[in-house]
Amino acid sequence: MIKFLDLQSQYQGIKDQINEIVLEILEKGAFVGGEYVERFEREFAQELGIKYALGVGNGTDAIELALKALDLPLGSEVILPVNTFFGSLEGIVNAGLKPVFVDCGEDYCIDVKKIESKITHRTSAIMPVHLYGRVCEMEPILKLSRQYGLKVIEDCAQSYGAEIEVFGEKKYAGNIGDVGCFSFYPGKNLGAYGDGGAITTSCDEVFERARSLANHGRGKSKYEHLRIGRNSRLDGIQAGILSVKLGHIKRWNEIRRENARLYHRYLEGLDEFLVLPVLDQWERSVWHLYVVRLKQRNKRKAFMEFLHTHGVECGIHYPVPLSQEEEFRAKQWSEDIVSLPMGEHLGEEEISRVADLIKQFIRQDLMR
Ligand SMILES: *Cc1c(COP(=O)(O)O)cnc(C)c1O
Repeated sequence: MIKFLDLQSQYQGIKDQINEIVLEILEKGAFVGGEYVERFEREFAQELGIKYALGVGNGTDAIELALKALDLPLGSEVILPVNTFFGSLEGIVNAGLKPVFVDCGEDYCIDVKKIESKITHRTSAIMPVHLYGRVCEMEPILKLSRQYGLKVIEDCAQSYGAEIEVFGEKKYAGNIGDVGCFSFYPGKNLGAYGDGGAITTSCDEVFERARSLANHGRGKSKYEHLRIGRNSRLDGIQAGILSVKLGHIKRWNEIRRENARLYHRYLEGLDEFLVLPVLDQWERSVWHLYVVRLKQRNKRKAFMEFLHTHGVECGIHYPVPLSQEEEFRAKQWSEDIVSLPMGEHLGEEEISRVADLIKQFIRQDLMR
């Protein structure tokens, strides 16, 4: 069986460290906030080279709270890609803002050429989603944001550790726009053992406002409530687990990068049938997902069934685009895409087996 995701095998590899820290936290009773959360926030910000990181309840909350912390006019418009997870949209709507969709490009991220035509006097922010582990083309987005006075909020739920060069400077996803939003849902590259998320920023006010909003609108002390906020905090046990994983994530992401290169090598020459993802354009992807496109969409069901029958799990991200309008490429592509297994649990043997099966499927198909 070649699993799409293998959290158990990852746990086995770091079991002693995880068990030790969880017991330590239980002994100390540091359940919400406190020393382990503060430590993780410090380490997380340091890794990304940014001033602040704030642990929150999950990735969707991170988006909502970050948008609220930016203090955008209520009802103003936020531009986002049509090809993303539903949570990106929920964060915007729950913050009292209006989503405006832009189509995706060949790399499935927001098509930067199509952003400007969607900007109106009501637009207040652009939210690029660093989808499948890659970083969007950020320079044009930053230029537009300056030209039109817009905020940039990065959805980094799938891209912890992904890098890009922006105006000659190497940057991590989450340290490029005004604010970055992360999810630590277990299935993400950097996943907790429950829900979790984080907001990153270098702006003092945005950080303070987000921290207050996520913690009952609190000010400096427990019963000083400055505003109506909510409860969306990272718990101590998740923070401890994330600190342990932070010590391994670079290596895991490197394995994913190697696996992507292997897929490219083994799947070379199948252009008639498959469109492979773009490998290393301007970014260093962390390959949260490895998504291929079938040239004949009517073969997708059989293709996925064939792989499944031979013990290979795959998925579709996402089967339904956020807007059903025909103008969007994402709508067409949602019927063509397949996510192949990807993760640090895989090596050359598994990748070559998946590739062999794909070639076998194509051969059978040709003979039919
Ligand atoms: C997972 C995900 C989210 C939401 O994160 P949760 O922690 O599940 O709330 C938002 N945006 C994208 C692109 C995601 O992949």
